Amino acid sequence: MMSIDDNIEIDDTGASLCVHCDGVLGASSTDPFEKVIRRERPSTPAEPGVHALPSHFTDRPIMVRQAFCPHCLTLLAMEIVPGDEPGYRHWRLEVGTSIQR
Ligand SMILES: [Zn+2]
Repeated sequence: MMSIDDNIEIDDTGASLCVHCDGVLGASSTDPFEKVIRRERPSTPAEPGVHALPSHFTDRPIMVRQAFCPHCLTLLAMEIVPGDEPGYRHWRLEVGTSIQR
């Protein structure tokens, strides 16, 4: 077992698991969030670290993207990013190298 962060670990087969419930998040380390529940919505000043309307600083839509464990619904990852970016930022694990973000 290899710990990736406070929420995710990789087992000997390369599958990613939720550390809170041992549920499988992805069958392969190349797509560790394959089975997560994703939620995306516009950022608001009520978000952690957001104290003003994003429109005061940019014309781009700013979105909150969250990934939840499909088994226990723990929030696994969250990002606040421009909504016109194509998808979630992600990490991948390559054998023999460090974690790539
Ligand atoms: Zn879980």
